[in-house]
Amino acid sequence: MHNRRAVVVGAGVAGLASAIVLAKLGWRVALLERRERLKGDDLGMILWASGVRALRALGVDATLDAAGIPIERFEIRNEERLSSSFGGAMLGADDGTPSVMVHTAMLYEALVSRLGDRVEVHPATQVDRIDMVDLAAGDAFRRWDADLVVAADGIDSPTRHLIAPGSPTVDAGVVAFRGIVPAHRAPERSAEAVEIYGPDRRRFGYGDLGHAGACWWATVPGGMRPESPQIQHELINRWFADWPAPVGKYIAATRPSELTQQSVRYVWPLPARLNQAVGNGGIVLMGDAAHGVAPVLAQGGSLALEDAVTLGWALRRTPESLPEALASYDRARLPRLKRVARLSRRVHTIASGGRGVTRGLLRAVPDSWVQSQAASLADWQPPR
Ligand SMILES: Cc1cc2nc3c(=O)[nH]c(=O)nc-3n(C[C@H](O)[C@H](O)[C@H](O)COP(=O)(O)OP(=O)(O)OC[C@H]3O[C@@H](n4cnc5c(N)ncnc54)[C@H](O)[C@@H]3O)c2cc1C
Repeated sequence: MHNRRAVVVGAGVAGLASAIVLAKLGWRVALLERRERLKGDDLGMILWASGVRALRALGVDATLDAAGIPIERFEIRNEERLSSSFGGAMLGADDGTPSVMVHTAMLYEALVSRLGDRVEVHPATQVDRIDMVDLAAGDAFRRWDADLVVAADGIDSPTRHLIAPGSPTVDAGVVAFRGIVPAHRAPERSAEAVEIYGPDRRRFGYGDLGHAGACWWATVPGGMRPESPQIQHELINRWFADWPAPVGKYIAATRPSELTQQSVRYVWPLPARLNQAVGNGGIVLMGDAAHGVAPVLAQGGSLALEDAVTLGWALRRTPESLPEALASYDRARLPRLKRVARLSRRVHTIASGGRGVTRGLLRAVPDSWVQSQAASLADWQPPR
């Protein structure tokens, strides 16, 4: 497949990882990104062991290159008590791979540094047309012909609407706030990631980012808030005022400028296929563009990395036919993606129940079920 050309639309985790994989296989890659710079946000994110293995397959060490901090245990609580706790093998460490907390901007930097000189980067390029007849992507001024178009343009991907019109984006009915606190202001540190399910469909989690500080995330019901960051900070203070320590400390240590607000949506149902053959080439959906999942299980980033590594495997396995390679990519990915999407939606439904519902369900769900689901989420190896 030498000298084949790919256009990757979107330089999020999925697009960066796809560009690395394709360049390693000798493709010439045009990476088109609408933002001015290839930069990750100042946020913390959990990367499960599955994602850490995928990163390793791309040549990135999550702990060394992206300063990831291994998570020793994951705790799920309600306001009064511990509901479930798992670590070790349940987080994927049975083969020595940790699940980690990473600083998103550092993860991006590590990926960008692996792009290499076969990848031409075009920032400030908003792709608004994909030619599905003579395969190409472009904006109002330029057009990039390609053998393969990788649509890694996030959950609102117009390409998914073309390939899989029955897979819309669903509003999850909650909004997320995420905060990052620099190390010198960070409250108590811990090797655990903790998530607390509270009343009124509210949820708060936190974890340690080592030198990069500490991070927290929270969801509350409703849509995006129009207020200034200052007022949003005050609202969050009020919403979580009587929550157990150290919730208040995390909020108090965060400045309004260190807050990020995000809408929470997911793709449902998942597409029945992730690619479309076009002549001898094709289009493939990657990451959130294909399968944005409800973020309640912190799976989206890992799945995006797994997608890219699996695409590389499929292209190596069937070098003579791109449509066949894309078909084997679909076969390899869809069962896992469907499983994770179903579970994420189920847990999101539990987390979004009213006060009694969530508390009751948290009590009713056996620890062994939570642990086995966690183990299955972490249980992914790069295909050989
Ligand atoms: C509140 C919240 C918490 C989360 N926490 C975690 C977590 O802890 N762990 C985890 O693994 N995942 C988490 N996720 C999910 C994770 O952030 C996403 O799944 C992941 O970032 C998806 O990456 P992506 O590259 O597919 O999409 P995106 O990150 O959305 O990247 C898409 C890129 O395409 C660009 N783009 C879009 N349209 C165009 C266009 N027309 N032309 C050119 N460029 C375009 C965008 O600018 C963007 O750079 C969370 C998500 C949310 C909302």
